[in-house]
Amino acid sequence: LKFSEEQAKRKMLYNQIQEAKGNIRVFCRCRPLRKDEISAGNATIIDFEAAKDGELGILTGGSTKKIFRFDRVYTPKDDQVDVFADASPMVASVLDGFNVCIFAFGQTGTGKTFTMEGSEQDRGVNYRTLEQLFKIAQERKETFTYSISVSVLEVYNEQIRDLLASAPTSKKLEIRQASEGVHHVPGIVKATVENIKEVWSVLQTGSNARAIGSNNVNEHSSRSHCILCIMVRAKNLMNGECTKSNLWLVDLAGSERLAKTDVQGERLKEAQNINRSLSALGDVISALASKSSHIPYRNSKLTHLLQDSLGGDSKTLMFVQISPLEQDLGETLSSLNFATRVRGVELGPARKQT
Ligand code: ADP
Repeated sequence: LKFSEEQAKRKMLYNQIQEAKGNIRVFCRCRPLRKDEISAGNATIIDFEAAKDGELGILTGGSTKKIFRFDRVYTPKDDQVDVFADASPMVASVLDGFNVCIFAFGQTGTGKTFTMEGSEQDRGVNYRTLEQLFKIAQERKETFTYSISVSVLEVYNEQIRDLLASAPTSKKLEIRQASEGVHHVPGIVKATVENIKEVWSVLQTGSNARAIGSNNVNEHSSRSHCILCIMVRAKNLMNGECTKSNLWLVDLAGSERLAKTDVQGERLKEAQNINRSLSALGDVISALASKSSHIPYRNSKLTHLLQDSLGGDSKTLMFVQISPLEQDLGETLSSLNFATRVRGVELGPARKQT
């Protein structure tokens, strides 16, 4: 019984933290300069010295510096381990029955996929999350049994595509069609996973399916939202109590505005759909942050899909990804303004640089 007491204490602690800080966190991450950008001597607009305490100074021209405040600000020196260390308590709470959503938002090329997926040498939030869930589940195996399953979805042009739907059934992996529609996706495919190796193969299956039917995979992924949904069922062996919770890890479509002259036909439709779903997401999170009585979940497929996991007791984390370059100033300001609105906190005053 000791363990369930410990769990109850942890829940109390989560509640206290939530009350003090709210359920919504916004972390800002700036990508490093590439080698070619360094050698070209490209101008930058970020004062990293001032970024230590969650404050980010952006040089907006002349000597004017605009200050933005977030729950965390990462400089290019911060690596995947540093970033995950801050996200990990939120991620772990899914094993205690909380729903969690994590988003990466920003202009294409600012590191959304790097933060969420990462690479084999530099694993991102998705992989580290599952690794941590399995580790904790193992530590608690005397007192809890957990069943973890994964779905991989894509939202493109306001259409949800189930990326595991066409996956071949593997002997080892139980990939099955849910009998009932879950999360507004009828017959969503869930892969039951027991260890991190199996997860890796599911993620590969998902990303291979994403490539099918698109001429340019990179372009396609920058215009669609890629969603990893982790479903956890927990049974407390001490008292028989069962809980279900979801963790959504979302690599959003690029937030950049396209030049009017470039946008026609199919691209125009894509741009409008991206714009609409990102604004809808911003509206939902800021309505939650300001504790509004009406939360407009139904304005986009994405917010509708995530409805049960945004709000209430759920926790939300948004990474706003930015570029350090002067030439991206317009997009950077637009992303930072979006993130500030989402966080429901006013902007700091513009300051003269000293
Ligand atoms: P996005 O998903 O926003 O379009 P990517 O994740 O594809 O952007 O990042 C663009 C490029 O920048 C990639 O080559 C990526 O490896 C690199 N990159 C982004 N953020 C970082 C970082 N924090 N550290 C090292 N490389 C990064």
